[in-house]
Amino acid sequence: MARTRIHLPPPHRAAWRALQTAVWAIGLAIFAALLLQPTLGIHAFWNVLIPVAPALLVLAPGLWRNVCPLGSTALVPRHLGMSARGKLSRAGQARLRLLGVVLLLSIVPLRHVVMDTSGPATAGVIAGLALLAVAMGTRFEWKSGWCSGLCPVHPVEKLYGQAPSLSPPNAHCDNCFRCVEICPDSTPAMHPMIGAAQRPEASGTLMVGGFAGYIWGWFQVRDYAGGEGWAHLDVAYAFPSAGLLASLGLFLWLRRTLPAGHHTTLVRSFAAAAVAVYYWYRLPALFGFGPFPGDGMLVDLRQVLGAGFPWLSRLATTVFFFWWLVLRTRQRRGWTIRPPLAHPA
Ligand code: SF4
Repeated sequence: MARTRIHLPPPHRAAWRALQTAVWAIGLAIFAALLLQPTLGIHAFWNVLIPVAPALLVLAPGLWRNVCPLGSTALVPRHLGMSARGKLSRAGQARLRLLGVVLLLSIVPLRHVVMDTSGPATAGVIAGLALLAVAMGTRFEWKSGWCSGLCPVHPVEKLYGQAPSLSPPNAHCDNCFRCVEICPDSTPAMHPMIGAAQRPEASGTLMVGGFAGYIWGWFQVRDYAGGEGWAHLDVAYAFPSAGLLASLGLFLWLRRTLPAGHHTTLVRSFAAAAVAVYYWYRLPALFGFGPFPGDGMLVDLRQVLGAGFPWLSRLATTVFFFWWLVLRTRQRRGWTIRPPLAHPA
């Protein structure tokens, strides 16, 4: 369905800039807390911001894309006219997307090894990603280098953001320069296996098929503190990798077995399974019901909520995400509304 392309009127643009600045300032405050008040920073980042993010990506990925602090950082050079605005080839775009998935799958197990218990380690990884983001924004046009390329959160955005509840205007790109061949921000019902080539990219298949199992495996490993985790690197990577391979194998078998008409439902079901598995463990853990006592706990509410809470929580989140991503009748909309083309074809 063709959607209206819109330019943001100046007052709306100013309002989005104010919101982007506010979210960026919150991100900077959390970064400072990770270095100066690590306990507070770890709670704010790992036990508040990160647990909220998957639900936000499911419900309103465009809102997140408009205000993500790392995305805003990557796009500063472009907004200031300091980007070389390079054009990536189709193969170059695919390579960056695959590297983004590799970055994601490589970094997440390090949470158990060191990041979940060390504010400076988490801050160091964020700083490294921010430098990479600015480098990509300085080199390539709009979001092609980072937000729709190398960013390790982008594969998760594409997996979870298949059925947005709203499509705000794109608050970064003033005009569309077609910086990526299939713009994830502007393509209705975007998912990781939609691509310019006929065959789905390896990065998309890995994410759709493997991520649910990867998350399950991740939750089977505990957090290590005080440098002890480096002696358990093998465990930290083995469980998520084994889960990924098992769920990827199941996905590939189902895709070969099921008629092509069911493939979209299959993709949505694996996306729903991934986010449902995440909250299956993560929401109870926030309140003291995690598989490893104390890991990922925001506040201990075990006495208040009672022993039935984890199962009520799991039932509610699993039903909700399958309904939202698989069963619900919905409009096919994009994450954001595309701005007018700079050079209409
Ligand atoms: S709207 Fe156009 S310029 Fe902006 S990210 Fe999408 S393709 Fe690139």
